[in-house]
This record gives sequence, structure tokens and C-alpha cells, in this order.
Amino acid sequence: MPTIVKTRKDPFRALLLKKRNELLAEVKRGPEALATNIQSPDAVEFAVKAAEQDLTARTADLRSRVLQEIDRALERVARGSYGVCESCGEEISQARLKAIPWARYCVHCQEIISRN
Ligand SMILES: [Zn+2]
Repeated sequence: MPTIVKTRKDPFRALLLKKRNELLAEVKRGPEALATNIQSPDAVEFAVKAAEQDLTARTADLRSRVLQEIDRALERVARGSYGVCESCGEEISQARLKAIPWARYCVHCQEIISRN
């Protein structure tokens, strides 16, 4: 068994795991919260609920995408390539990683990718 070297990436691993657990807990709560929403047949109420559910669906979609990104980030931590931009190979700034621990690209590359 190779010894895992302690690096400054460790706090981010903890952060990623924490966020992952939060998201998984939300996913588990999801369907229940939705079921209690579909009980008022009033038209206005219904429209509001429909909009809310649409939002919930989109949030769920976003949530699963973030979960995927977190898993990928945890893999990078394990491989030792965490915090390195997948596009240009430069280190992603600590500030950026604190804001988005699963960030794959540095600010510059993310901008270029977002524009395309
Ligand atoms: Zn980059």
C-alpha cells in the first residue's frame, strides 16, 4: 500500500466529500418534497406548483451534474491531478477552488469554454 502524501489539496477533498453528502441527502429528500406539492387543484396554485416542479426538475438535473463533477474532482484528488486546469495545465487558483471545489478549468479557460 503506497502512503498517501498529505498535501494542501486535502482540505478540498474534505470540502468535496461534504458537498457530495449534502447533495446526496437532498436527492433522497427530493421525491417526498415533490409529492406534498401536488395536492392543491386550484388553477393559480397549480400554475405556481407546476413552475416550482419545473424548477425542482432543473435543480435535480443541476444537482446530478454537480455530483458527477464532484466525483470527477475526487478522482483527480486520488490521482494527484486535482487543482490543475484540464485545458492548459496551469494551477487553478485557490480562491477559485474555494468557490467551486470541483472546478475543472482555470478562470481563463472557463471563460473561453463558456463563450463557445
Ligand atoms: Zn486553463
